[in-house]
Amino acid sequence: MTIFQKIIDKQLPADIVHEDDRCLAFRDIHPQAPLHVLVIPKKPIPKVADMKAEDEAVVGHLLRVASDIAARENVQDFRLVVNNGAGAGQSVFHLHVHLLGGRPLAWPPG
Ligand code: 5GP
Repeated sequence: MTIFQKIIDKQLPADIVHEDDRCLAFRDIHPQAPLHVLVIPKKPIPKVADMKAEDEAVVGHLLRVASDIAARENVQDFRLVVNNGAGAGQSVFHLHVHLLGGRPLAWPPG
């Protein structure tokens, strides 16, 4: 079981900023920006490459929820990041969208 599944199950505490029937959003424990929230599906999809066609709606939902959270926090410019695989920086194998904002964000990322 991943750490994120434990957060979904409320076995581990988290600073939750949004929850609905399909997803959960909480602040990253090691924030990389003033706003750093993780938006995750309740369904345990390990990574983007494991998505099935039936997962398209929930993953789209994650983007819309992330955008709503940014608006609520008065952050107009933000970045959404999804790391897929250890070589791309993924450390928790439960699909998640990083919402980053509140400071200038350089491009390209490292
Ligand atoms: P990844 O590297 O897989 O794309 O992102 C995983 C993120 O989860 C990291 O930014 C890390 O700081 C965050 N994280 C890891 N464990 C916990 C935890 O127990 N609670 C919270 N809130 N974030 C966590």
